[in-house]
Amino acid sequence: MAERLGTLVFSSDFDDFATWKNALQAQLPDLQVVHASAIERPEDVRYAMVWKPPAGFFERLLGLQLIINLGAGVDALVARSDLPPGIPITRITDPQMSRMMAGYVLFAVLRHARDIPHFEQAQRRGEWAYRHPRAPDETTVAVLGLGQLGAMAAHEVQRQGFRTLGWSRTLRQIDGVQCFSGMETLDDVLGQADIVVLMLPATPHTHQLLDRNRLMRMRQGAALVNVARGSLVDQAAMVDLLRSGHIGAATLDVFTQEPLPRDDALWSLPNVLVTPHLASVAIPASSAQQIAANIVRVAQGLDPDNRVDAERGY
Ligand code: NDP
Repeated sequence: MAERLGTLVFSSDFDDFATWKNALQAQLPDLQVVHASAIERPEDVRYAMVWKPPAGFFERLLGLQLIINLGAGVDALVARSDLPPGIPITRITDPQMSRMMAGYVLFAVLRHARDIPHFEQAQRRGEWAYRHPRAPDETTVAVLGLGQLGAMAAHEVQRQGFRTLGWSRTLRQIDGVQCFSGMETLDDVLGQADIVVLMLPATPHTHQLLDRNRLMRMRQGAALVNVARGSLVDQAAMVDLLRSGHIGAATLDVFTQEPLPRDDALWSLPNVLVTPHLASVAIPASSAQQIAANIVRVAQGLDPDNRVDAERGY
């Protein structure tokens, strides 16, 4: 089996090699797992498991059969000019990762729905600033992007009793979620929401999807949650609208430039919570099963599951 499976090379500055190696070998004891810095026979490498590998990384891997993106967002990978043509790309699809993301989204939605930013600011002033709570179904939450992560988040949001709208490219069906699709419905969805949650991939079609005009379509005082990618939003326009109060508050995990520069206005806006891109991460123990299944499929000459469509960009 070792010979049939071949070698997997690992490259990531963000993930722990030993943990991933152990997790993969627990599934496939015969798989050789090597760190990119220690490849001795590049011609034996069949699988590359990567997160932002250095330029030219794929050049020596002439026997490559599968690229595994160590995360859900493939924008950085598919935008590269040095990708070997025709090699299938898969991404992490792991229920635990979706659950972690749904947890963050739920936290952010509840934070806004329960006016927590208002109370945080009042506390700093030493003020007992009572604001009467609304029933969950009086708050409308729109989740833009209903993929592996977005669908679970939308499901969890509606389970809390919020009126939940979902938006995607093709029409999806999620119990309890009113689903919309296509650009022609976007303004309507934005105009109905008290809380807008961005869960779309970064592609040429979604680049600055929420430009100034679309941000203006949001309800006066509505909240914005971005857990997807900074490039989806015109960040300068968002800052203006957060200052004016048109956008009432925001929970932001992603930015056009990361790390967010020290002098960025977002750090000090009182109605903004900044977190450093960690809404969800790939979890070795649970993701390894799906990765191992794909390695076996490829070794058997089959197509991997959850293949990324590089043309489409996700
Ligand atoms: P998927 O690729 O599974 O799903 C993408 C969703 O977006 C689909 O519903 C798709 O529509 C929709 N979509 C794509 N393009 C368009 C478009 N032009 N117009 C309307 N809808 C569109 O993504 P995931 O749910 O797995 O993840 C979403 C993103 O979250 C990732 O791409 C990544 O950038 C980000 N992410 C962030 C993390 C963090 O820690 N902050 C961690 C992990 C991921 P359709 O259903 O029709 O295909």
